[in-house]
Amino acid sequence: VYQRKRKPVWLRRSLPTSPEYEKVRRLIGESSLHTVCQEAKCPNQWECFSSRTATFMILGEVCTRGCRFCAVAGGKPLPPDPEEPGRVAEAARELNLSYVVVTSVTRDDLEDGGSSAFAATIRALRDTIDGVYVEVLIPDFQGSEIDLQCVIDAKPDVLNHNIETVPRLYDTVRPQAIYQRSLDVFRYAAKTAPSMPLKSGIMLGLGETDAEVEVTLSDLLAAGCSILTIGQYLQPSKDHLPVETYVTPEAFDAWKTKALAMGFADVASGPFVRSSYKAKELFESNG
Ligand code: SF4
Ligand code: SF4
Repeated sequence: VYQRKRKPVWLRRSLPTSPEYEKVRRLIGESSLHTVCQEAKCPNQWECFSSRTATFMILGEVCTRGCRFCAVAGGKPLPPDPEEPGRVAEAARELNLSYVVVTSVTRDDLEDGGSSAFAATIRALRDTIDGVYVEVLIPDFQGSEIDLQCVIDAKPDVLNHNIETVPRLYDTVRPQAIYQRSLDVFRYAAKTAPSMPLKSGIMLGLGETDAEVEVTLSDLLAAGCSILTIGQYLQPSKDHLPVETYVTPEAFDAWKTKALAMGFADVASGPFVRSSYKAKELFESNG
């Protein structure tokens, strides 16, 4: 008899609430913008909003790729909205954010992969909020150095690109991505913008082995990545890949110790860690 694997006790957590959290939540709900925080029902909203951090999703809600772990809808996206960078900046100002993460669906349909929208959003945020920090979580731009350079030229404070999983699992987990091409994002950025902090994230629980994770972390380091997030894969629906293992909080702690010993400058590792979890704190301590 097929039995659904039950979520372990450490993944059952009730969300606290607070007046600051409620305020940010309400303001985001009233603006017409998409935050990953709310749309993905991220369990860290309370912590992130309380430290004035949020993640905006630009370039629509429909992705040209179909990663088997991701809840974003696939299909044909709408053309970019030239007003969007300004609206993101205005919303971030109203929310009194001090650290803004900007990400997007993957727009393989666009000539520039959406890179000019990332650059315009970084600049709009800088023009609108004094002293704001901007982290971009970018797609691979299908390996285009021109698109990547366009984002780098706008000088984000952190350039983030998720490696997501170990190379053996790319075909099943993210079939339209290429492991070496994702590493190339770091190699290129490390070469052309050596002082820009580079960050990546990996999910555990998809069937990877410890040895494979270790090789992936070494590859990231060798490519120039210095900040790392490690989190638990959770199945967004029964049509997505099943969870193979639930990694214990102690094992996440051990990964953090290991990654720091390997040479990462800062690491967030835990069952609830997402790519933008404690982004501000990781950036500050990377410093
Ligand atoms: Fe938003 Fe990221 Fe924080 Fe989740 S971890 S609440 S998506 S900023
Ligand atoms: Fe989701 Fe990004 Fe994959 Fe698109 S490219 S399906 S948004 S993980």
